[in-house]
Amino acid sequence: MRSIPAVFLLSSALALAADTDYARLPDVAKLLVDIIRIDTSNPPGNERKLADFLKARFAPLGFEIDIIDTPQAGKSHFIARLKGNGKKRPILIAAHADVVGVEREKWSVDPFAGVVKDGYVLGRGAIDFKGGLAVFAQAVLDIAKKKIPLDRDIIFLSEADEEGGQYNTRWLAERAWDKIDCEYSLNEGGWIIKDKTGKVLYVSISTADKSGISLKLTARGTSTHSSMPRPDNAIYTLARALVELGGYDTKPKLTPETRQFFGALAEVSPEPHATQYRNLLSDDPAKVAAADKFLSEDTLIHAIMRDTIAPVLMNAGFRGNVIPGSAEATINFRTIPGTTPEELIAELRKVIQDPRVEIEVAPMSLGRGPVTPEQQKQMDAMMRSMRNSKPSPQDNELYRSLVKSAGAVYPTAKVTPYLFQAGTDSSAWRSRGIPVYGIYPYPIDHEDLKRMHGNDERVPVSSLESGLQLITKTLLDVAAAK
Ligand SMILES: [Zn+2]
Repeated sequence: MRSIPAVFLLSSALALAADTDYARLPDVAKLLVDIIRIDTSNPPGNERKLADFLKARFAPLGFEIDIIDTPQAGKSHFIARLKGNGKKRPILIAAHADVVGVEREKWSVDPFAGVVKDGYVLGRGAIDFKGGLAVFAQAVLDIAKKKIPLDRDIIFLSEADEEGGQYNTRWLAERAWDKIDCEYSLNEGGWIIKDKTGKVLYVSISTADKSGISLKLTARGTSTHSSMPRPDNAIYTLARALVELGGYDTKPKLTPETRQFFGALAEVSPEPHATQYRNLLSDDPAKVAAADKFLSEDTLIHAIMRDTIAPVLMNAGFRGNVIPGSAEATINFRTIPGTTPEELIAELRKVIQDPRVEIEVAPMSLGRGPVTPEQQKQMDAMMRSMRNSKPSPQDNELYRSLVKSAGAVYPTAKVTPYLFQAGTDSSAWRSRGIPVYGIYPYPIDHEDLKRMHGNDERVPVSSLESGLQLITKTLLDVAAAK
């Protein structure tokens, strides 16, 4: 008999240990491990693979399944409907299937192996948003398994192209609206934040997302031979405009929801932060300005209270001996609900104060040359969503139920509405007047939060379990037959 190499013995022992760990996990964590192992890094996404996996889980439990293929091979949306008696309109619970890519060499574990270590599931998407997909899916699967009678359909949606790409929920809503139409919806968004001791400090439920829009600055000058420079060089003109912009910041604009959020932070934060949050909410402009300065060291807090400005692209010149006739910079803005594109352009003109710099709305995606019809569609949709962006109400059944369930599962926490600092794919519903509430359904601390879209992304197993309680309670509250 040939001897078995030691390395083989070792690796099979490791595999055995890993499998034993897996067997001991609660169902929701097992599900997360399984779906992390399906690599849906976008591009290309490969969401169809995850759709097929989910179909095998959902179909045997009596769900109506629709897989909506997009024009891109391997990219699909997955819809599973659990039928109720139709007394009420459906609730939709949505999670994106795709994840951002990884810098593999910076991870301490294989990001697509679904490693379980020290009470955490590690892997790309653990927080954003395969953890949420696992919690949402497990809640719906459990309700189906228990055959609980329902007053409304529960629609579970696993979405493609949230992290980028054109076949996102906006695309889906235009083609299969009847499959995803609902009274209200749950999606990603707010946070359940705990401190180092594990105490849950607050649960924030997003009722609105910031909008995103890009503006292009074009400086004009004389195009000529570089041997005879002129004072109207377009690159200098653009550079001066950018220097003005760099020294400028927008004023805080607090919405009713962000006021509630900062009020909650004032109650749960240690000093001196608590006082600064209170000052931010005061009527005293000097106190507000000082609080803004202090609190804005946290870039998330800085972003939630204002329209943000970020230059992202520049384009000037085409050869070494020609002074170009124009120079361009693209500036990305993330705006508070209520800010219009016209207001933003007017504010920018005032800051730059140079008529030689033209300002116009530009595509979000990279592109030099004329705007394509697809980009124009995206820009129109962006501007529409900016104009129509209204927060989802706090006085309906789903929001009230989320608050009640969060209070029951996390009794130490303040529960507050939240303005999500970036965009999500909720706009497909909000733009049609359908309320959407967002939550990452698991308590995490700041160390966990930092790893989202970064390296060694992770979520505590125990947080997945309590998040499952929160979501199950909420779904039963609004959908179970009464
Ligand atoms: Zn996400």
